[in-house]
Amino acid sequence: MGLLQFPNEPRKFRQLREWARTQFQQEIRLPALQRLGGEATDLGILIMACSHCGLPTSTLHVFSDLPLDLSRVELETSLRRLWGTERCGWKDAYCANCHSTGPRVYPVVAHFGRVLPESGRDLQIEVLFGDSRILRMEYHRMEPDGTSTPVGTPSDELAFLDSFQAPLSMRGLWADFLGRHLSADQLVTRQVQPGYILGLRPFTEDEREAMAFYAGFERWIERRRRELPFDTVTFFRDREEDGIPIPDEESYHTWLPAFAPDIQDALVDPFIVADSDSFIRVLDEVAARRGVRVARASGEDTLFARFTAGEVEVRLNVGPRYFRILHSGQTFHRGVITHFAKEILAIKAAGDLAPVLRARLPGLRVRVREGKILEILDAHDRRLFCDDVIRVATSHTVQNEAGLEEVVRRILPGTNLEAARLAAPPRD
Ligand SMILES: [Zn+2]
Repeated sequence: MGLLQFPNEPRKFRQLREWARTQFQQEIRLPALQRLGGEATDLGILIMACSHCGLPTSTLHVFSDLPLDLSRVELETSLRRLWGTERCGWKDAYCANCHSTGPRVYPVVAHFGRVLPESGRDLQIEVLFGDSRILRMEYHRMEPDGTSTPVGTPSDELAFLDSFQAPLSMRGLWADFLGRHLSADQLVTRQVQPGYILGLRPFTEDEREAMAFYAGFERWIERRRRELPFDTVTFFRDREEDGIPIPDEESYHTWLPAFAPDIQDALVDPFIVADSDSFIRVLDEVAARRGVRVARASGEDTLFARFTAGEVEVRLNVGPRYFRILHSGQTFHRGVITHFAKEILAIKAAGDLAPVLRARLPGLRVRVREGKILEILDAHDRRLFCDDVIRVATSHTVQNEAGLEEVVRRILPGTNLEAARLAAPPRD
């Protein structure tokens, strides 16, 4: 941190605030976004001033456990709890320069940043203190290139989506969307990210009127299909009617309790129009950060994807999880992290295994057959080992020496290995 004179006048406070904002954006958020993209962690910085020596002190806060579906109001409440007077967010602070502690070191401003992976933008909340209390919060939107704009406090989740082109709380967005358009006079739709549109047939108790709402639907979807295939139309009540396996605690019954009875009785009919290719693109984007590539591997009626890491290739039916994500009020990005992160890591570990074993076992032939069977052959092409490569990679910690040793011992018990090595001197 650079040095600043103690800001004992409003003008200097303003300078300190602006300096803190620039530091936070350029030195903290931008590098995090460039390195981790949509998976950058929530971060905060708290700037305190010391009334004894006049210098500012800052502390970095890593918020690794803030829930990701907080609404704007819930997020502000969390920040108040963390930085406000009830908790010791700053009370135990001390001045790094003169080592003063206690009330001599008081908070001036704090910044919070959360990336919105659906649009790549960063939500930043500037928390202003006065007399050691939080006075107010101001919103800023930072683009992926680091330019930032102050924006008004979003009045609800729909306004947030307008401002950031991504939802803050997807479930909160659904609730606000239903609340606002419940008595609209036509079908209402709203895009949350490319390839993902919320839809609502407004409330009616008259079945004929309900049908009439869909009169223009075909024409509407034809128009949308000029941009993207939009191969998916699914209704929340399909969960009950078609038996889509969504656990109760993830279903709309849990996070739209006020609307759930009317949805189930089809008095109001929320639906989703989505494009499975866009979903696969997000899956690939998230997996690629972990060294795995994903591509669609099916026709129009099914949703299979091929996951590739090194010589490992796995074809999975991702359809059920795709529907689960749509029906549980998650964006593509949050849903992929929730439902695929573990699998992606396993495939990555499997992809790393063959080259590591090859280096480890000179003179033996290590190969991955059909993208999934790990085979080890001796110099005479006798098979010494054969097993599912993902199972081998995930049942040991192959990233460290001890784990690797364990794998080698397991797949090639000692004597066997020596014999194999003798049979074939190491190649160079
Ligand atoms: Zn000091």
